[in-house]
Amino acid sequence: MVDLKRQYAHIRQELDEAVLQVIGSTQYINGPEVKAFQQDLEAYLDVKHVIPCANGTDALQVSMMALGLQPGDEVITTSFTFVATVEVIALLGLTPVLVDVDPDTFNIDPEAVKKAITPKTKAIVPVHLFGQSAHMEPLLEMAGKHGLYVIEDNAQAIGADYIFADGSRRKTGALGHIGCTSFFPSKNLGCYGDGGAVFTNDEALAQKLRVIVNHGMEVRYYHDSVGVNSRLDSIQAAILRIKLRHLDAYTAARNKAAAFYDNAFKNHPGLTIPARVPYSTHVFHQYTLKVDGVDRFGLQEYLREKDIPAMVYYPVPMHLQKAYMDPRYKAGDFPVTEDLSERVISLPMHTELDEEQLQYITSSVLSYFD
Ligand SMILES: *Cc1c(COP(=O)(O)O)cnc(C)c1O
Repeated sequence: MVDLKRQYAHIRQELDEAVLQVIGSTQYINGPEVKAFQQDLEAYLDVKHVIPCANGTDALQVSMMALGLQPGDEVITTSFTFVATVEVIALLGLTPVLVDVDPDTFNIDPEAVKKAITPKTKAIVPVHLFGQSAHMEPLLEMAGKHGLYVIEDNAQAIGADYIFADGSRRKTGALGHIGCTSFFPSKNLGCYGDGGAVFTNDEALAQKLRVIVNHGMEVRYYHDSVGVNSRLDSIQAAILRIKLRHLDAYTAARNKAAAFYDNAFKNHPGLTIPARVPYSTHVFHQYTLKVDGVDRFGLQEYLREKDIPAMVYYPVPMHLQKAYMDPRYKAGDFPVTEDLSERVISLPMHTELDEEQLQYITSSVLSYFD
């Protein structure tokens, strides 16, 4: 699905030098590279504070801790997401309130969020799925009106712009009270291990986050709150600093591949190409088709035989997962999510796809329908 080998080959010299420099420095934890990456990312996102941490799941967890969410508080999010979003809500003893998504964008449906708000609601977690922003303006308005926090799960959309109705733009992750991201290797900005970060423009919240990711410790060995150990290591930070410089070019390469796919599939009656919306750019973390009239796992198997990887993100919505079964929910409650989970398939999408590969992939997909 991704070609990290070829990507590495293109930036090998820069990366090797940076990694060796960190090894030689022996400052493996909280070294100067971490601070430098933090500042580079603050500038890139135009956000006041970036707090690096160990992974994207931790980023979500420490965000909810910093906001002081308490057991029984309701957190609204989508049933069509990667498990981490719902997992941390459950781990903290909060109540996940799941809602349906928009059938075209796969993202949380603001109308559904509106209906799910109760006096216990404390936060909304929009997930910018597959590389495109959720429709934030109505969500931010609702949050303002009801005094709710907005925590953006930006693990799949780093580098995307949200475009407001007045034409102004902000990077996704910098719109709500807190933004979270992951630097897992296959993410759009990926390191060579685990990594994550939290973003905020709120100074007080940033300070709380810095303390929480460091064992609840402000002064060494004095613990004022319960925290966690969640750090980005210096080697990963050095790698990310270099890859961040290439992020916009990587996004452009993904968009070029997406345009090739679009062109090949747009008129096919059995395939629906990913929708574009006026309120967001797309960074194509995934290129996800909706399939009609054929067995999607059959198509996946057919492609596998031709050495083309294809994945189903996600085959089972959160409300139908064993771990998250809840008497409040049953099959049929989120018809859009359930329909999508039966019809989506994602094709290879990365920064190194060349025209020959794209031609092979598209003609192979189309030949399945013959
Ligand atoms: C990858 C991902 C996460 C979790 O990130 P990790 O670094 O793997 O913990 C959270 N949410 C979404 C939507 C993701 O895609």
